Formats: sequence, C-alpha cells, structure tokens
Amino acid sequence: MNFTQLKKLIIHADTKIVMLIMDGLGGLPIEIGGKTELETANTPTMDALAEHSALGLSSPAGPGIAVGSGPGHLAVFGFDPFEYEIGRGALEVLGVDIDLLPGDVAARGNFCTINERGNITDRRAGRLATTEAFELVKILGEIKLNGVEFIIKPIKEHRFAFVIRGKGLGSDLRDTDPLLNGIAPMQTAGLDDASKRTASIVNQFVNKAKFLLAGKYPANMILLRGFDRLPEVPQYKDLFGLNAAAIAVNGMYKGVSRLVGMSVLPVEGITMEDEFAALEKNWKDYDFFYLHIKQTDTHGEDGDVLKKIKVIEDVDTLIPRLIALNPDVIIITGDHSSPACMKSHSWHPVPLLIYSKNVREDGIKEFGERACSRGSLGIIPAKDIMLIAMANAMRLAKYGA
Ligand code: ZN
Repeated sequence: MNFTQLKKLIIHADTKIVMLIMDGLGGLPIEIGGKTELETANTPTMDALAEHSALGLSSPAGPGIAVGSGPGHLAVFGFDPFEYEIGRGALEVLGVDIDLLPGDVAARGNFCTINERGNITDRRAGRLATTEAFELVKILGEIKLNGVEFIIKPIKEHRFAFVIRGKGLGSDLRDTDPLLNGIAPMQTAGLDDASKRTASIVNQFVNKAKFLLAGKYPANMILLRGFDRLPEVPQYKDLFGLNAAAIAVNGMYKGVSRLVGMSVLPVEGITMEDEFAALEKNWKDYDFFYLHIKQTDTHGEDGDVLKKIKVIEDVDTLIPRLIALNPDVIIITGDHSSPACMKSHSWHPVPLLIYSKNVREDGIKEFGERACSRGSLGIIPAKDIMLIAMANAMRLAKYGA
C-alpha cells in the first residue's frame, strides 16, 4: 500500500503494540530430517501464545534474497528495503552509536600503510590493535576545517567510522581507497556541485591526516570509501500515528529505529533482562515498543547451535514479563534467518507470530518454522507485518464507503 493512502486510514486507539525481534531467528534443521534451533528450543510460553495467535512466515526482501540486519529491520518496521536503502558507510556509523543526522555524510575509514613513495603497502595497516586505533582516531579528531565538523570513531582494528557534518554537503563522492596495494590512495571527487565542494573538504582532511600520521607506521595514512547519507524515511508518528520506542543494546539497531522516528530508550545494562526492564519502566509512555535480541544472530553466525537454542529459551522465560503488561498486540519474529548450520544470514522466511485478542487464532500449539508454515498468515512480506499489527490494534479505519 502506498503511504499516502495508509495515512488516511490511520485512526487513534488507546492500544499498545510490542514487536519482539530475535535477530536471525529463522534456522534450518541441525541434521537432515531433524529440527531447527527454534523447534528444538524448549519454549512453553511462546508455544502457548502461538495457540492463540496467527502464525506465518515473514519474507524480509522477497524470495531468495538474504538481507543484512539494516534492510531486514527496515522491512519489519514497514518499509520496502529496496526503496529505502541504507548504504554501508551509514550503517557502520550507526553501528558505533554516532547520532547520524539528515544531511550528514558518512564513510567507512581504514588506517593503511604507505611507503616513502606514497604507495599503499598494506590497506589494513597490519590489522593494528583496536587500542592503537583509539589513539590514532584521537589524532584525526584534532583536524579542524572551516564550516564543517568531523566525527570519527574507532570500529575495530584498522577500521573507523567517518562523518562530516555541515550545511549543503553532497554524498556522491568517489572512494579514496583504490582497493589495491602498490599505488597511491586516490583523491576523492564529487559528481554534483555539492559533492564537489564536499570532495574538496575531504581531500583537505586526508592531506592533514597524512601529515599528522607520518610517524605512526604502520598506520601512516587513511583510506575512505562508501560515502553516503541516511535515506529519508517516513516517521512512525506521521505514518502510523504511533508514539514509538526502541529497546536495543547494539548501536546499529538503535540507529535504524531512530531513522524511522522511534525514541531510543536507555537500557541500564546490556543483558536481555535489562532490556525487558526498560520495557516495563517505560510502558506507560509509548504505544509501540520494538525490543531487539541480538544474540540469536550472533550464535547463528558463529554456527553455535546450542547457544542459539539457549538464547531462544532464555527469551521465552522473559516473555511472561511482556505478557504481564497486557499489550494489545504482540509480534514475535526476526529480521532474517541465520541458520547455525550456514553460519550466515540466509534467505529463508522467518517464523512470525501475531497475537491479539482480535486475531483469528490458528490454534497451532507451537512456535517453530514448520508450525508457522501451516499458519494462516502464509508467507508475507515483512513490510506488511505492521499493517496487520495496526489492524489488530484497531488503529486502521475501513477503506471506502
Ligand atoms: Zn539481523
């Protein structure tokens, strides 16, 4: 549905929606003919909830497409991930908790090694220790240029996030990283007028960095690539009429939720219990909550079946705290699948549960891949989940007379 039409259907109701995202939830049988991680996990609470819910499978970006967590999240939040593309530079920046603003230009940075002739000998500066990168990033932080602000944060080893903030910047910039050893880093260049001005600023920055890093072998130069900015995405308040809050520990998820207009709630600690405590603490103040569980994906990507199962079971023991708040709609799904046996994100549709007192119950007493494939929702695009949730929350009016 187009957003102009959708906005006309939005009505107010005093109802609350909770979206619980277990990152990379979907899996595959651990052995041929066996059960998946979710099917193996002992999940009495989710199974009981499933009986009174509509089940289905959610497809983040269409058949056969495996997605990263950025597009996967935009999809479950209600957006077409191909229409609203978050570039790699912007994602990296969001991932280190830089509060990226509209108009900021972001890039991925590397410390690298150049020889006395200025040619690159190691694009990763020997993968220098993250602690050393911290010191070098401080040096880059001393660079000042008129009219703009630079925000630089270490990511890991030789990598850092780079942001320029200022008026009238452009983001159509060529990488300075030639992706090869043996030649000099390139100057960036801009395609349009705003990007040309921005390119000149970036080149001045890089020249100053080269000067300041001269004695810091092996990290004696920098490379920048993947320049881009945040897409402009409709805001939850405007689009859905929802006062929405996000509960997440990792930076990228906070960033993507902020992008769609959610308030990012403080979490006192880093555990799942801390996240549920934040949900309880802020329950009165919002009508939509997104709660993100990261570890399902981490263990899926590590190929650690048992740990992924354990995280799912741990989440199950916390869900009674959510149910006790008496939300009108509960959505449980993932942003994509991360089967432990593949050690990566995959294209497989993700188990989806939508509970409300208005839902047409499927009566299936299990939350798992095969149980969900028998559910009444079928396989739906992830971007449609919010429409079903809004309807169940009595927040969508009838279309037409
Ligand atoms: Zn993910």
